[in-house]
Amino acid sequence: MKVPFADLKAQHAPIRGEIRRAIDAVVDSGEFSLGQFVEEFEHKFASYCKVNYAVAVGSGTDALLLSLLALGVGSGDEVITVPMTYVATAEAISMTGAKPVFVDIDQSTYTMNPHLLKDTISSKTKAIIPVHLFGHPADMESIMEIAEKYRIPVIEDASQAHGTLYRGRKTGSLGHIGCFSFYPSKNLGALGEAGAIVTNDRKVTEKLRCLRNHGQLTKNQHCLIGWNSRMDNIQAAVLTVKLKYLDQNNALRRDIAIQYGNTLKSFANLVTPIEANDAVHSYHIYAIQVPDRKKFVDMLNGRCIGHAIHYPIPIHLQKAYSHLGYRIGDFIVSEKCSKRFVSLPVFPELSNQQITIVIESLRDCLI
Ligand SMILES: *Cc1c(COP(=O)(O)O)cnc(C)c1O
Repeated sequence: MKVPFADLKAQHAPIRGEIRRAIDAVVDSGEFSLGQFVEEFEHKFASYCKVNYAVAVGSGTDALLLSLLALGVGSGDEVITVPMTYVATAEAISMTGAKPVFVDIDQSTYTMNPHLLKDTISSKTKAIIPVHLFGHPADMESIMEIAEKYRIPVIEDASQAHGTLYRGRKTGSLGHIGCFSFYPSKNLGALGEAGAIVTNDRKVTEKLRCLRNHGQLTKNQHCLIGWNSRMDNIQAAVLTVKLKYLDQNNALRRDIAIQYGNTLKSFANLVTPIEANDAVHSYHIYAIQVPDRKKFVDMLNGRCIGHAIHYPIPIHLQKAYSHLGYRIGDFIVSEKCSKRFVSLPVFPELSNQQITIVIESLRDCLI
C-alpha cells in the first residue's frame, strides 16, 4: 500500500457538495473578481485570526510584496529574513528593489534566531520578516522587543502557519502585518492561487486595498501605482467553506505528529519537531533531521512512503541570490538542516492504516 506525501482529492471528497454549492453561488452572482464573496471571506478570516482587517490578494507571494510596498519599502532599503524558508519570502523583498539580509534560524524551532537579529539591523533596515516555518511560531516576543526598540515594522510570513498559536494568540496577529498563502497544499488551501494579509492597522489596510486593485479605491481614480492582485470570488467562496474545517484538520495533523514523535523519540540519532515558546504547532510540515538522508530516503522509496525535502538549498546559496555574496558557512544551522531534513506525510486525511504503515516502516528500518 502506497502512502502519498499529500492527497488533495481525499481532502475535498467529503466536502464536495458544499464546495460545489459555493462555486455555483459565485457563478449565479455573475461577479468573479472582488465583491461580496471576497468581503465575506475577509471578514471571517480576520475574525479567525482575531485582527481588525484582512485583505484578500492573489497569492502568498503577493501578500508579502504588497505588504512591503504598503510600508514604503523599495530600492536602497534592506529587509531582514531567514535563509531557511520558501524562496518566495526573499523574492518578495527583491521585487520591491530592496536587498534581503539573512539571519540564521534557531536550531530547535527552525525559525529566526532573535539573538542574531540585532547585529543584522542597519540604518537601511525597513522591515523584518520572521517565517513561522513548518507551522511552528517564531519567537515573536523577542523579535518584537528588538523591532520596537529600533522602530522597525515586522511582517510575519504565516504562509505555513494558519491557526498556529503562540502564547495563546494566532500567528499573523503578532506583528504589524501577517501574510498568508492559500496555495492548495497549505493548511488552508484554495482550489488555485490565493493569499491574504491581516493587520490591525487601518491605514495599511486602505493602502493594501488600493495596491491590489491598480491603485484605485474609486473606479478610475488611481491615487497610487498599484498592481492586479485581486482574489477571485470562486477562491474566496471555497476558502470560506474550508476555513470551517481548519481547526479540526490542524488537530488531526497534531495527532499524527504525536504518534510519529512517540515512535521516533527512542532513536537518539534523529531530531523530531518540538513545540517551544508555549506554541501550538499546526504541522504544515513534519520535518525530521536524519544523519544519513540518502539511506533514509531510499528506505522510504522502497516502502512507497511519500516524502519531500524542505528545503535542500538555503536561499543564500541559491544561484539567483549569488549577487548577495554569501558563502557556505555563513548560516550554519540553516545549512546543516538543509542537508538533514526529510518531511514525512502529515496531512489530515491519512488513514489509521497509512499512519501505521509509516510508523512500522520507521521502526523496522531504524532499529
Ligand atoms: C507558500 C509560501 C509562500 C508563497 O505563497 P504562494 O501562495 O505560493 O505565492 C511564501 N512563504 C512561505 C513560507 C510559503 O510556504
